[in-house]
Amino acid sequence: MNPLLTVEDLVVEFKISKAKFRTPDGVSFTVMENECVGFVGESGSGKSVTALAIMGLVPKPQGRILRGRIIFDGTDLLKVDEHPRGKKISMVFQNPLNSLNPNMKIGKQLTEVLEEHYGISHKQAIEKVVEIMKQLQIADPEEMVKRYPFEYSGGMRQRVMIAMAMLCEPKLLIADEPTTALDVTIQAQIIQLFKQLKSQSKTSILFISHDLSVISQIADRIIVMYAGKICEISPMKELFEKPLHPYTAGLISSIPDMKERKTRLKSIEGNVPSLIDPPSGCRFHPRCQQRMKKCVESEPPLFSIKGRQVKCWLYEGVED
Ligand code: SF4
Repeated sequence: MNPLLTVEDLVVEFKISKAKFRTPDGVSFTVMENECVGFVGESGSGKSVTALAIMGLVPKPQGRILRGRIIFDGTDLLKVDEHPRGKKISMVFQNPLNSLNPNMKIGKQLTEVLEEHYGISHKQAIEKVVEIMKQLQIADPEEMVKRYPFEYSGGMRQRVMIAMAMLCEPKLLIADEPTTALDVTIQAQIIQLFKQLKSQSKTSILFISHDLSVISQIADRIIVMYAGKICEISPMKELFEKPLHPYTAGLISSIPDMKERKTRLKSIEGNVPSLIDPPSGCRFHPRCQQRMKKCVESEPPLFSIKGRQVKCWLYEGVED
């Protein structure tokens, strides 16, 4: 597999009133062709801002990309005149209602995308829309295209957003918390759809969620973010079998185990730090049970261990 997306040392700085903070703060990672990478982390960890930076949508004037490179399909997206979003890269957001026009029929919203990008006739666009709606298991698509967003259920609206994102057959699909607003059954159906899309269309997926149990259902590899930094990158199976970073271990032990309903969930003690004045050294040190003197004094690098990467001093000297 070849890399489709390579992010190098990406830093996004925000200035709100007199406060300045950085998130993400120096992240580097790759997404390979036909790979699903899961991005997990708590609110403020930098995962959604990283996605917006890839899409060329960092909110201005508060935010700006301070440094880094985003190489997509051989091109640095930070240097292009015309960003390939909506064509080679698409994004699905958490709340479809914010992305859909409430006053326009779904069919028109979808066909406009095709007519604009491919210059095809309305009739051809409708045929393509109906075909993709069938693929996404939207029942009676010929009838559904005539309806408005409010006439769709939450799960159906999210299917429409996925249809919209897939219409131009993107090489990379970014999904930011696409199932968070949905109930568990619909959540499972939407995840199944993403899996199906990945195997049928060979699209690479960057799947963002605060919920590791959701990501574990779809990702090939997982990137764990904490307070603007990457703390672990690992294939999914190995991450669950043997988490390396203490934060990853904490996230895994806080996933409810349905077989052991009576067991109290373990949560990670303490709070996510302020990004305006982040902790010295390792940003996780105030919450880490294994912290050492060095953890407070200096920031660990990402150590490479058997195809995995971990940002933690516990692995100094045992790296590859
Ligand atoms: Fe804990 Fe130190 Fe590792 Fe940070 S570097 S996760 S504080 S052991």
